[in-house]
Amino acid sequence: MSARQETGTTTAHRVVILGAGYAGLAAAIQLAARVKRREDVQVTLVNAQERFTERMRLHMTATGQRLAELSVPELLEGTGAQFVRGWVTAVDADAKTVRIDDDRVLPYDTLVYGLGGVADTSAVPGAEDHAYTLSSAQDAELLADRLARLDSGTVVVAGSGLTGIESAAEIAERHPELNVVLLGRQEPGAAMTPKAKAYLHAALHRLGVQVRAGVEVVKVLPDGVELAGGESIAADVVQWTGGTRISPLAAAAGLAVDERGRIVTDAMLRSVSHPEVYAIGDAAAIRQGYGVMHGTCQGGMPTGVHAALSIDRVLEGRQPKPFRFGYYHTPVSLGRGDAVVQFTRPDDSPRRFCLTGRMAVRYKETVTASPWPTYGRMKKMPASGAFWPRGGRFTREAK
Ligand SMILES: Cc1cc2nc3c(=O)[nH]c(=O)nc-3n(C[C@H](O)[C@H](O)[C@H](O)COP(=O)(O)OP(=O)(O)OC[C@H]3O[C@@H](n4cnc5c(N)ncnc54)[C@H](O)[C@@H]3O)c2cc1C
Repeated sequence: MSARQETGTTTAHRVVILGAGYAGLAAAIQLAARVKRREDVQVTLVNAQERFTERMRLHMTATGQRLAELSVPELLEGTGAQFVRGWVTAVDADAKTVRIDDDRVLPYDTLVYGLGGVADTSAVPGAEDHAYTLSSAQDAELLADRLARLDSGTVVVAGSGLTGIESAAEIAERHPELNVVLLGRQEPGAAMTPKAKAYLHAALHRLGVQVRAGVEVVKVLPDGVELAGGESIAADVVQWTGGTRISPLAAAAGLAVDERGRIVTDAMLRSVSHPEVYAIGDAAAIRQGYGVMHGTCQGGMPTGVHAALSIDRVLEGRQPKPFRFGYYHTPVSLGRGDAVVQFTRPDDSPRRFCLTGRMAVRYKETVTASPWPTYGRMKKMPASGAFWPRGGRFTREAK
């Protein structure tokens, strides 16, 4: 008996979208706009909170900056999509149901999994107990509270990737009374051209961020961190940005996942083990000609739109098309007054061209502010969301 028959209440095809992040919202708006006039399709979006989390601005939240109140249910108004507020605790891929807050069960015919990722605090002992993260708006607010209560002291940002760089710069700019130390295996901006990297390093130096590259944090302590080799660095606050991990829900449901817990998809973004499940955004392991995509908003939104287009095609009895995406930039904020934007080839390798200073600040802000108005446009003109770089020869061979 199918999940649809079991409920006995509806004959509509139920599409349940998990996660109203950048990717999940793109999927929900795109699909709802396309099936608006169909009574035989029901779109439901599930998310932990009603307020949209602008993840790309969480380092601003972590330094006490107030962000716009963006309401997901308000955005969905007029689309026909339902919003369910709740915490997804389990997916039963055989029964085709989703459990919410442990006591509600939502059946689906098609599932779109877009629950994103969180900071990987399981990477080293002590990180889970002693480190702050930017995993959610609540986590960022906890960090903001802690920083606001310090008159002096040291903040260690452990992890020199883009989140670590943006956090360290923002904290140093907003809290000049604190010493900010950025630690990581790689030098910050390692994937950039020498020019962009030199600019980034000069900006961090100007902001007073002490950078220690080539070090490995092996433990987070209540009052600092321990490095490989035994050295300890005392800190009043440790922020952990050493990689991301994906919710164990997908693996627990029996969906095929990769070593990081991401759902492995086929070229159409369907789970290779459960084709009625589409995976999008940071939670998906999507292979392109250049390799498996890494989590970004620039790639995440297109995955949501593409999943919606594919579901719409299947509902109309047509074949879904393969997904293709090529990167085009790496924008990095360096506090509110500075930034660097590295333009990239579709495989994410750096092009020669970069923006710095005020131009880069404007570019980064435009990029960061663009998703919400994009969703608004998509409600009225779904096709307006379907443009992104397909990656040319870099993705043509994708399997
Ligand atoms: C500080 C920072 C700066 C960044 N800057 C950039 C940038 O400049 N450009 C760029 O392209 N990318 C950037 N990123 C990366 C980008 O934010 C992510 O790749 C993007 O958010 C992924 O989108 P998503 O929809 O997959 O997941 P998310 O945006 O994380 O959304 C997941 C949603 O699912 C919800 N959720 C999770 N688990 C559950 C559950 N069990 N039950 C119910 N709801 C749940 C969450 O609350 C959230 O609303 C940045 C990230 C950070 C942290």
